[in-house]
Amino acid sequence: MRIVRYQDRSGVVSYGEQAAGAVRRIEGDVLGAFRITSEPADVAKVLAPIVPPAILCIGLNYRKHADESGSPPPSFPVLFIKNPACVQNPGDYIEIPTFLASDSVDYEGELCVIVGKRCKNVTEAQALDYVLGYTCGNDVSARDWQRQKGGSQWCRGKSFDTFAPLGPCIALKDEIPDPNKLRLKTTVSGEVMQDWSTEDMIFSVPKLVSFLSGSTTLLPGTVIMTGTPHGVGMGKNPPRWLRPGDTVSVEIEGIGVLTNPVVNEP
Ligand code: MG
Repeated sequence: MRIVRYQDRSGVVSYGEQAAGAVRRIEGDVLGAFRITSEPADVAKVLAPIVPPAILCIGLNYRKHADESGSPPPSFPVLFIKNPACVQNPGDYIEIPTFLASDSVDYEGELCVIVGKRCKNVTEAQALDYVLGYTCGNDVSARDWQRQKGGSQWCRGKSFDTFAPLGPCIALKDEIPDPNKLRLKTTVSGEVMQDWSTEDMIFSVPKLVSFLSGSTTLLPGTVIMTGTPHGVGMGKNPPRWLRPGDTVSVEIEGIGVLTNPVVNEP
């Protein structure tokens, strides 16, 4: 099942089940008990599929991306956090910062895991029991604020407003038998930049859920951005930074396509 979060014409936000050509309204809580009604959903605008209490991100989680970043493969997952306020809807703008100006804003197409149930200290074998489903994400990154001006912390350069587009839907677990066997493709203004498989992850999805829940409570709705494959703009020669007028699309097999146009921060 695929579910979308949407706003109707009167501004009410709901979830709906997306089937072939139609969306039916969902009643209840997608992180608890819910049922699909027979009512057609009045979808005026598709929203990011979750309002996460936390966005946990993994750096350098693909072998070839660690190579292009000039870093050895990490021994433990590299965790950083994005501000939940930087979530952006499918179709809405990625804004290049102009107040804290950046001249090197980059895309990172990523498989995102949505935690379905509160959990702590889960084993790898249990990990997927706590997962609601998956969505596409773009871990937008201002490389200058990540690398030179971030005081060795990545959070500044990765938490500007609009820097976490998510969507277009949540593919529940029944749609994704193995999250580490998915093709992920990122295009910028139609040019293919990343086209790889989640099989190349250094730490698999069950390993990440287990590691992140170690001595740490994961709240329902938490988004785990699982890292990006090689092909980011920083790794191109010359680098391919995002520019106003670009459009970035992240497509993941079994989920859908997340597309966002790029503008300067107004
Ligand atoms: Mg990333």
